[in-house]
Amino acid sequence: MNRPYDVIIVGAGMVGATIACGLARSDLKIAIIDAVPAKPYEPDAVPGIRVSAISLASENVLTNVGAWQFLKETRLCPYRHLAVNELPAEHGLAAKLPDISSWARTQFSAQEIGQSHLGYIIENDLIQWSLQQVLLTHSNVSLLCPKNIVAMDLQSDTKTITLETGEVLESALVIGADGAQSQVRQAANIGQYREQYTQSALVATVSYQGAQQDITWQSFTEHGPLAFLPLAESGGQQYASLVWYDKTDAIRELMAMELPALRRLIQQKYPPELPRLNRIEARGSFPLFKSHAHHYAKAGVVLAGDAAHTINPLAGQGVNLGFMDAAVLVDILLKAQLNGERIADLTVLRRFEKKRRLSNQSMMGLMDVFYHGFGNKHLPVRVARNLGLGFAQRLGFAKHKVMAYATGLSGDLPRLAKPV
Ligand SMILES: Cc1cc2nc3c(=O)[nH]c(=O)nc-3n(C[C@H](O)[C@H](O)[C@H](O)COP(=O)(O)OP(=O)(O)OC[C@H]3O[C@@H](n4cnc5c(N)ncnc54)[C@H](O)[C@@H]3O)c2cc1C
Repeated sequence: MNRPYDVIIVGAGMVGATIACGLARSDLKIAIIDAVPAKPYEPDAVPGIRVSAISLASENVLTNVGAWQFLKETRLCPYRHLAVNELPAEHGLAAKLPDISSWARTQFSAQEIGQSHLGYIIENDLIQWSLQQVLLTHSNVSLLCPKNIVAMDLQSDTKTITLETGEVLESALVIGADGAQSQVRQAANIGQYREQYTQSALVATVSYQGAQQDITWQSFTEHGPLAFLPLAESGGQQYASLVWYDKTDAIRELMAMELPALRRLIQQKYPPELPRLNRIEARGSFPLFKSHAHHYAKAGVVLAGDAAHTINPLAGQGVNLGFMDAAVLVDILLKAQLNGERIADLTVLRRFEKKRRLSNQSMMGLMDVFYHGFGNKHLPVRVARNLGLGFAQRLGFAKHKVMAYATGLSGDLPRLAKPV
């Protein structure tokens, strides 16, 4: 027998689970499906390798949907400063320039905007786990996880999703929050623009010596940034996540190295701010691409998070855009329901696309400015961008604008992204 729902969400990752938590406070009957169970929180464990820099606006979203009360009992690392600079060139004419990398360094601090922190670095697994803890408290939500989907029919007015167990779920509205390879997007015949970057990223969880850091920084090389993201202490040990962007072949070589040799190379190539590393605990590599669905909405189907858009992760904004998608979508669906509209109607779902597409596109464009801007090896461009970074540090009003943008607190915020 088919099981009817008001909304089916495919993907209980960070974005899908946030949407479900936001909608759960209504009387909508919601099913949310994921093929992979969330990893439970283990105190004192080595942090997971996938982490995110969560903006203040995203923290508001997680608080407003109830996840922060679980999350704050786990491992969170606040960062109070954020710095960007460019490392001196190693080859060519640029290598003969005086080293102005410490002058040409832009550093943002939370206290400059009257905040205690600029954001948190949190393991993706913990965010997902805490959101799913909230879902378990709502009787109108069925968290179907782990469950494999074997068929989706998204063409008729009543959409059906068939699980491996033989259960058939039906609803007028399916939300695709199933990540970059979205099956919902494909089943709904929504095409996408996709472009692979020539860079890839190596991500490593490392343990380090000394006190817990409260700064996250990126030092640009001609091949892309070397980034440091501090993580919370666990089991009396300090951890950080390092990201090394480089050409795909170079990343492949780093992945093939023995871990002690890689640790020594990181210590040598990273700027001196990098604390003394004990060990590389884990590493992984990711191809980098950007993609944007041609539409976010069709009658009865809507895409959010990475299912709709992926961006170059160099400024760590991907899931922050996803949280904002979630907050806006929840607002629009709940308002429509209150006004007696059919929430699956294309006119309702298009309101979401109208609100989010331009913001997501703008962030995508901004990431490309960084990517191409710092990748340019011409001497005058290099000098100009170093001067730009140096003056940016000294121009108060410009800094405030950038910080408001980075914390996600600028513009017209949806209800869930506003401070509690
Ligand atoms: C190297 C790297 C570093 C990054 N760093 C940052 C950062 O610092 N800050 C930041 O904001 N973003 C960062 N991002 C981006 C961020 O990880 C993504 O934007 C975010 O994970 C998207 O969340 P999502 O919930 O939309 O998708 P996902 O995290 O991909 O979740 C999708 C969920 O759907 C499930 N699913 C998929 N298909 C199916 C199916 N057919 N049936 C059932 N379930 C399914 C999956 O199991 C998963 O749980 C980074 C990305 C990369 C590659």
